[in-house]
Amino acid sequence: MTTDLPFSDAIDPEKLDRLAEVAIKVGLRLQAGQDLLITAPVAALPLVRRLVVHAYRAGAGLVMPFLSDEAVTLARFDHGSDASFDRAATWLYEGFAKAFDANTARLAVVGDDPMLLAGQDADKVARANKATSMAYRPALEKIAGFDINWNIVAYPGAAWARQVFPGDGEATAVTRLANAIFAASRVDRADPVAAWHEHNAALAERTAWLNGQQFSALHYSGPGTDLTIGLADGHEWHGGASTAKNGITCNPNIPTEEVFTTPHALRVDGHVRSTKPLSHQGTLIDDIRVRFSEGRIVEAHAGKGEAVLNKVLDIDEGARRLGEVALVPHSSPISKSGILFLNTLFDENAACHIALGQCYAKCFVDGARLTPEQIAAQGGNTSSIHIDWMIGSDEIDIDGVRPDGSRVPVFRRGEWA
Ligand code: ZN
Ligand code: ZN
Repeated sequence: MTTDLPFSDAIDPEKLDRLAEVAIKVGLRLQAGQDLLITAPVAALPLVRRLVVHAYRAGAGLVMPFLSDEAVTLARFDHGSDASFDRAATWLYEGFAKAFDANTARLAVVGDDPMLLAGQDADKVARANKATSMAYRPALEKIAGFDINWNIVAYPGAAWARQVFPGDGEATAVTRLANAIFAASRVDRADPVAAWHEHNAALAERTAWLNGQQFSALHYSGPGTDLTIGLADGHEWHGGASTAKNGITCNPNIPTEEVFTTPHALRVDGHVRSTKPLSHQGTLIDDIRVRFSEGRIVEAHAGKGEAVLNKVLDIDEGARRLGEVALVPHSSPISKSGILFLNTLFDENAACHIALGQCYAKCFVDGARLTPEQIAAQGGNTSSIHIDWMIGSDEIDIDGVRPDGSRVPVFRRGEWA
């Protein structure tokens, strides 16, 4: 079977091949002899095939793709028994965790319709998400703990493209989304691999400055926002490329514009308002307003999707606390594109954001050597979820607060001060 899928001719094959090359060489920096586990929507098969080629050319041991399909997902909602929504493929994710223990690299291709489950029963969506989160946890811990090199990259699926460019015909929408993904992923440059090395160096300069400042908190002010985010003890800022516990320096997100660290799970106070809609597993949650007290969300509202938001917050105790704080200038290329991608991989790189749930162990000094108990003692949050949402805009000011209470401007009107 060699037939291509519909609309792959709307996507520049040369740039698609370069995206695959960047994912393998920069995103994963896959090592000779290393196995690779890929998850992707069936619609992304043209990219998956190129990824497999570049992986084997890089000397991969065994490359194993797992494909999902929108119609298969919907069939469960249409015809599955009620009990089905509390189930997940625990055995599969245990296998993933085992593979990661054996130093298998992980590549996730995103590209599904972000509104796929929008019309489905919110309770069933939440139960299915919860069951999946719990089952996936052993594998997520190894990703969040940065045990192995991993990467997320995007493919312009037709259903996703239609949501992003509703005014266009399908082929045009796919071409526009493809070109936006290629530009954001820097594969429209003459030498994408060199462009990524340059970009990584610029992000490293920002993280070095922030790590030198040793802030104990960040204070955000703007419309609907007056928020103090305490930073975890011994936190460390990261951005661009970083080194996994297996010693491989990779770029977990393609694209990426953020520098980020771990907030203190018990030291977040005040209120904050989202600045972009959050597309969460098929539901759009918009105009989020929450109030934190001692790190915990004690009040949550949303203009749209409030029921889903509250179900997310109830998944476990850590879902109400922060696991990440990230800085992205309003002038980032993804922000300047003006496109709302309805996908966190892109939208989180258009604005400053925070994430509910699990923290990243690597965002601590010597993080690779800390036990989960030590991370918790330093303020790192634990949860079965990690959900980023956008709180940045050109109206947000951020101050760094030093342990003695003195303040340093970090962002003014959405830009580095
Ligand atoms: Zn982030
Ligand atoms: Zn995040």
